[in-house]
Amino acid sequence: MKAVYIEAHGGPEVLTFGERPDPDVGPTEVKIKVNASALNRLDLYTRAGERGLQREFPPPLILGGDCAGEVIEAGEQVAGLKAGDRVVVNPKITCQQCPACLAGNDHLCPRARFMGSATDGSYAEIAVMPAVNVHAIADEVSYEQAAAVPTTFLPVWNILVRRGQLKSWETVLVLSASAGVGTAAIQVAKHVIGARVIATTSTPEKAAKAKELGADEVINYNEEDITERVRALTDGGVDMVVDHVGADFFAKAFSSLKPGGRYGICGATTGLRTELHLGLLFSRQIEVFGAFMGTKEDMRQIVAVLNRGTIHPVVDRVFPLEEAAAAHRAMEETNFFGKLLLKP
Ligand SMILES: [Zn+2]
Repeated sequence: MKAVYIEAHGGPEVLTFGERPDPDVGPTEVKIKVNASALNRLDLYTRAGERGLQREFPPPLILGGDCAGEVIEAGEQVAGLKAGDRVVVNPKITCQQCPACLAGNDHLCPRARFMGSATDGSYAEIAVMPAVNVHAIADEVSYEQAAAVPTTFLPVWNILVRRGQLKSWETVLVLSASAGVGTAAIQVAKHVIGARVIATTSTPEKAAKAKELGADEVINYNEEDITERVRALTDGGVDMVVDHVGADFFAKAFSSLKPGGRYGICGATTGLRTELHLGLLFSRQIEVFGAFMGTKEDMRQIVAVLNRGTIHPVVDRVFPLEEAAAAHRAMEETNFFGKLLLKP
């Protein structure tokens, strides 16, 4: 099969388009013809060997996690999926045997691994995944939209729905509306929960798109102070913050919370370290928590609202698989709104 793989860490130039052997399917696995594969930051870190993702070569590694496609073959012990089914893949592989997994807290599995980082991934014509990571999608959902879902909606669901329990009468601040997580957070907060959404972004064009997705108010952080603007728009601050950008905006977003507010973090693309004012943390009784992807049950719930048409994942551009390096460069330039996809 055709695939994009790496044989060494480095820049986009190490992405090689070529021939790799078709993967074998195990008894509890599903073999999928990939129709769309979505880029994530993890792909860039894996390619570069950053953030603890250095690995030994050979063997080569096929990158890519999030994907959607058609089932070619289901292993003999697989129930509920068959050849021809249209599916989306949750790229986080868990052991299904540890106490966390057995308790349904598989987001805490200490043996968790990622497709496309620990195992061969979805930048390929064919991919294999455990059946528990594969979900059927409705005919109305395109492969491109489905592939854009898992890594953006799982942490958002984790923060807003399961942990943060955002309510319809509350207000949430979504940082950086233009990235995949931002577009997902606006939609879940607005269309699934029914909350008031204040989003931040960097240009009038991105602000208009954020409003189209469901943001009630948009703050252009290049022109306005986030904390001051939130104070003007709310009665004492927001109830929740969804942060996937980290250091550059933490102080402003933290000061935008009302007493008792919840601050969920699922990424730190602008920097990993920041200062936390402990006096404000306890006196204002703020809760700060981290979220890394979500549970298999979170994914089931997300696919349910995807299939009902409640959420519409945002796709910025689709590149042919052989142009994976161009897609990686586009992601590094951060000049996009929504997800970047590859199509074999
Ligand atoms: Zn486990």
